[in-house]
Amino acid sequence: MDCHEASALLAAYGDGELDPVRSAAIERHLLGCAECAAKRDELATLRTRVRAEVPYYRASAGLRARVRAAVEHALPAAPRPQAGRERWRWLGAGAFAGCAATVFAWFIGSAVLEWGAGNDIIAEAVTDHTRATLGNRLTDVASSDQHTVKPWLSARLDYSPPVQDLRAEGFPLVGGRLDYLDRHPVATLVYRYREHTIDVFVRPVPARIASAPPVTLATLRGFNVAHATGSGMEWWAVSDVSPDVLSGFVARVAQGN
Ligand SMILES: [Zn+2]
Repeated sequence: MDCHEASALLAAYGDGELDPVRSAAIERHLLGCAECAAKRDELATLRTRVRAEVPYYRASAGLRARVRAAVEHALPAAPRPQAGRERWRWLGAGAFAGCAATVFAWFIGSAVLEWGAGNDIIAEAVTDHTRATLGNRLTDVASSDQHTVKPWLSARLDYSPPVQDLRAEGFPLVGGRLDYLDRHPVATLVYRYREHTIDVFVRPVPARIASAPPVTLATLRGFNVAHATGSGMEWWAVSDVSPDVLSGFVARVAQGN
């Protein structure tokens, strides 16, 4: 088995869906290939984090009906129970499991995509945050040094976001990355609070915001989003930390030094 074959099968292998022969082949390959072994570990981490961190919702009746209809549609015609055709029943059952899994995966995939479909900034900020935390691309520049993070971001944007390390106040700076909000590249500062990650999207205050409103707070899909303006910028903080901590934090970063 070469790397190409192995990477095509890694996900199925991780889910325990391969037959013993192919499992053994991929295991032999993983023993000798650090690159594929790293991919396997990455998949395992992602799976664990999705299970632990993605909020679960009960499917609505409409979604339930759509899944059911799609599964039924995808099913091969039910095999006729005839003597001597017993194995077809098993084959049919196998195909059913496969189709159901695929259709279900497709629905989950669309549901995740629908998350980001709205042009609502809060939804977009939460989607950016989820993508970054689950996708292993939390920072483009990993540094607790504001004098490293700020120039890195300024060089890639047409504005210069204020950057502070708030370690002394319990919010160490982890780094920064370039993300997208409202169809524009946006400076994203990454902070830590205890075991939590806080993303802060910073951009110049849009002209439509005449006077600085107080901190506003929203909750979406289990994440809190706190908004503030200050230091000539607009600040959106997204995290799973408690609303009061996040509001205090966003007010603090917006206020500047
Ligand atoms: Zn390999």
